[in-house]
Amino acid sequence: MSLLGCRIKLEGQDVYPARVDGVPDVYQSPKFILTKARWIEDNQVSTCVLCNNKFNQIRRKHHCRQCGRVLCKKCCNERIPLPQLGIEEPERVCDDCAPVTQLITKARSQMHQFQLESANGLNERCKDHTFIKRVVELGGIQSLIVLAQTENVQILGSVMSAHVFQRSVMSGLQALVTHQPLHQELAAAGAIKVICSTLSRLHEADEQILTDGISSLMIFCKSPELKKKALDDGALQPVLTMCTYQSPTLALLALSTLSLIVEHPNTHDAIVESSRNALPRILALTASSDKQAQAMALKILAHLSNGTEWHRHRIVQEDFSSGCSLLKALSSHPTDDQILCNAVCLIANLATSSEDQSSLQNLMVRVCQLLQNSPSNSDLKIHLGRAIANFSKFKQNTDKLVPYVSDIVQTCVKSTNPIIRIHGMRAILSLLSYSPSQTTAELMRDGAMDLLEGLGKVQGLLDSIQATLTTQAAALTRPF
Ligand SMILES: [Zn+2]
Ligand SMILES: [Zn+2]
Repeated sequence: MSLLGCRIKLEGQDVYPARVDGVPDVYQSPKFILTKARWIEDNQVSTCVLCNNKFNQIRRKHHCRQCGRVLCKKCCNERIPLPQLGIEEPERVCDDCAPVTQLITKARSQMHQFQLESANGLNERCKDHTFIKRVVELGGIQSLIVLAQTENVQILGSVMSAHVFQRSVMSGLQALVTHQPLHQELAAAGAIKVICSTLSRLHEADEQILTDGISSLMIFCKSPELKKKALDDGALQPVLTMCTYQSPTLALLALSTLSLIVEHPNTHDAIVESSRNALPRILALTASSDKQAQAMALKILAHLSNGTEWHRHRIVQEDFSSGCSLLKALSSHPTDDQILCNAVCLIANLATSSEDQSSLQNLMVRVCQLLQNSPSNSDLKIHLGRAIANFSKFKQNTDKLVPYVSDIVQTCVKSTNPIIRIHGMRAILSLLSYSPSQTTAELMRDGAMDLLEGLGKVQGLLDSIQATLTTQAAALTRPF
């Protein structure tokens, strides 16, 4: 095979993916023409590359128009039109290239029977390690992307064959996506765009095709670079729509994909304001009996709540008006630390929202109760401490929080972890400023020493207290 383009390793083999003349994105330009293979000169070879027999007066040399290699007549006797190479007349193709070339040629046909054969054949060969090299080298990626754009699938004869067709195309693409070395090729050729547009076009009933499509998107979104490309290529809307599907499998795959996408802050507006009702659905899933779905939904919301004030407000209001799923999530006594961490991280972020404090009261009390259970997971303790510190900033919460001073001291202020300790001290200091006598009384029972010791350990804190004190009672004065 000639050395076109860059080499990749696939299933232990060297593979030279097909190149397109001009724009590589065949979603934009479906009438692609592949770059022709380098023509091997007659005088460079003395034996047939497939059967190894020596060339002579009787056994003449023939070129395969597809791969450019020199072969004997027996090994290079098929004649196939090669529109993918800009050749409309049937041309000699070798036995090595012929099976996949037939399929690539049929993909270009206007006849739907041929398109169907091509889709089915390519799908099978994408999953066969003995064929995948040829599929990639002869234009299989590009052909599947073009086939996936066949809009009017009803022309394929019957609804049944249209379904088989779409299923084969998406399943073939999905099989290719499982090969990490092909990701750049697939993305450049427009695979992500075609998957997104197919997902947008289908209905929930097409579960298998949707599963293959969303699984592919999820794999792409695991790479930071391709996640950005997926967003540019329109992944967000179909993913949001699929989050609202009733099928647990589809919803979970969509949620998992969204949990990767949401790491990009510029997606937050679209998720929170989705006209597909994605936000209420994600909130509802936080109380799901499926632990995975619950963890994903909470993780997505925790990301969203890390953004703007408006997003936090929308989450609180949506949750409050649609049945307080977050409280259910916290009250279902989940023993899964990951679920608890995501939930408390989210609530800690929401706790900074000044206008939503009254809607957050029950969640605040629940967080205090969790603290009372003296959890052992240190991430959870950080989020719990942070949540209470954030709630304590608002004066209206003081009466509800003061009874928990001893728990804040035990779990946070006495902690050896400096972050947990600081959140604990933030909470205590807020309570001290709003309710000095009650808080002091609690601290005198236990915690006053820990608090002072903790404050002394905060870098620069005593210096800044000194500076503040000095402005109020100067170090130098004139005599009275
Ligand atoms: Zn031969
Ligand atoms: Zn060939």
